[in-house]
Amino acid sequence: MNNSLHINTPLLRSAVLSSPSQNVWLKLEAMQPSGSFKNRGIGVACQHYVAQGARRLISSSGGNAGIATAYCGTQLGVAVHVVVPQNAPQTAINAIQRFGAEVEIHGSTWQEAHQRALSYLDENSCLIHPFDDPLLWPGHATMIDEVVEAGVIPDSVILSVGGGGLLCGVAAGLNKHQLGEVEIVAVETHGAASLHAAIAAGHPVMLDEITTIANTLGAKQVCQAAFDVTEQHSVISHLVSDGQALEASQKFLEDHRILVEPACGATLAAVYNKMPSLQDKRNILVVVCGGMGVSTEQIANWQQQLESA
Ligand SMILES: *Cc1c(COP(=O)(O)O)cnc(C)c1O
Repeated sequence: MNNSLHINTPLLRSAVLSSPSQNVWLKLEAMQPSGSFKNRGIGVACQHYVAQGARRLISSSGGNAGIATAYCGTQLGVAVHVVVPQNAPQTAINAIQRFGAEVEIHGSTWQEAHQRALSYLDENSCLIHPFDDPLLWPGHATMIDEVVEAGVIPDSVILSVGGGGLLCGVAAGLNKHQLGEVEIVAVETHGAASLHAAIAAGHPVMLDEITTIANTLGAKQVCQAAFDVTEQHSVISHLVSDGQALEASQKFLEDHRILVEPACGATLAAVYNKMPSLQDKRNILVVVCGGMGVSTEQIANWQQQLESA
């Protein structure tokens, strides 16, 4: 019996991005019930904590992690409380409430919201971390199980990096299938390049500030496990501009009729702009990580913001 909270997402060979010598496979995590791959790891973590007796799940994410926790917790029949900072997008707040969770707006930064969330922890409650919990990664890794089951063996996997949970999960999934040699292209925008900075420094470092429209990638520091992946695995760090990420989201909407956040557009930009290391690859797997924090109106606003900058 499959009692997972995520779905087995479609794996499409993109007719637009592929060529006779190269297959570009799209793993459509945007189709998850909560709109992003976070559904996988957070579903596993929520199931684990509820099985251990948690009656209430706490999140401090005003983004896709909060949305996934709201969805998964409600599915499991426990209370979900999400503390979000004042600048959390209304679309995310609406989605969290629509999935049946309670939203509390507190503090001007994520750090303040997070402190508040921590203050609620007691013997009946658990915190669902957005990226840095080893329980999440086997959940994210299930997307690689599905790709392998579909008979696709990639030569390169492209994904976006925020705090690095997705990177940890994909690396775990590849290792599980003896695909540890497969290269991973880890994409960030210039204004949220915390993995790039960690690789340069030789350890995770804290960025001074986040300056990107791809706010979902805005973790100031990657988790240690994500940095460790870059030392054990062939990881190419790749940076794109906000303009490239936004343009890729727009092109993807036109080409595939699916709307994704610029956080996901960053990955798509690496593919649309044919970054050099991909050119000799036969099968490229693109993790279309998705994200609910986007609308056509928001895309137009970002466009204006970038043009007037
Ligand atoms: C969370 C998220 C990311 C970044 O994932 P990390 O595990 O934090 O690296 C990228 N894209 C979307 C849509 C996300 O929700």
